[in-house]
Amino acid sequence: MLGIGLLKGLGVTAKNLVGSFHDPARLVTTEYPEQRTKLPENYRNFPFLVYDGTAAIDGLRCVACKICEVECPPQCIYIIPDRDEKGRPTKKPKVFDIDISVCMSCQICVEVCPFDAIKMDQQYEIAEADRFDRLLLKREALAKPNSYYQEIHPAEAAQVDAMLAEARRKADAKAKAAAEAAAAKAATAKPGAANPPTRPPAPSGSTPATAAMKPATAAMPEPAVPPVQPTQTPAENSATGNPVAPKTGTPGA
Ligand code: SF4
Ligand code: SF4
Repeated sequence: MLGIGLLKGLGVTAKNLVGSFHDPARLVTTEYPEQRTKLPENYRNFPFLVYDGTAAIDGLRCVACKICEVECPPQCIYIIPDRDEKGRPTKKPKVFDIDISVCMSCQICVEVCPFDAIKMDQQYEIAEADRFDRLLLKREALAKPNSYYQEIHPAEAAQVDAMLAEARRKADAKAKAAAEAAAAKAATAKPGAANPPTRPPAPSGSTPATAAMKPATAAMPEPAVPPVQPTQTPAENSATGNPVAPKTGTPGA
């Protein structure tokens, strides 16, 4: 019937009007900035750097590998790795800047980071009068604790924490197994070094190889010496005229 829909709509409006005076579920206005609406977990704007422990800079997970800098489409990340006194990289960023006036909140830097060191923030009160300096966030401003990450992205942070704990457990187990293998190897090598295998002393003037060959030659039977037959007729003693007895024995004796 004509007008039924209109009456239903007016009824919903009247119900919300009355309910807005006493039912918090029907209060749709948030009195910002005194009150703030809780943001959904998937909301994101600009990246921040996660650190573990209490030391903001020393605890940064970032190892200054520069993957995010390379992959950032508008090239708004700038990193200089820190170095020790010998000039070797220390796996820490000395400079880590993000120009959030250029950042387009694509989250690619988060996706490519192998160390879960950079995450998307939910901080939206970032209006500044100077867009050339105040919107260039430096390492100190970007560093935020893991507890903050757990607060704004609880489900995602729980997954990351579990994954990192598992990785740490595997690394510890691997290191322990390697240490045990090294200790076992050292223990087996020691008795051998203290008691080297003994051999009978080789005769002087012979090398170990010839000494080793000795028993084999000693075990071989002596070649039979055939009896030597006189091949000549007994010669006559030229002095006496008597025949000379033939010599017996081995040739050369
Ligand atoms: S935030 Fe991640 S990807 Fe970027 S430099 Fe640090 S460790 Fe590498
Ligand atoms: S969110 Fe996207 S644009 Fe912003 S710093 Fe990360 S990769 Fe670059």
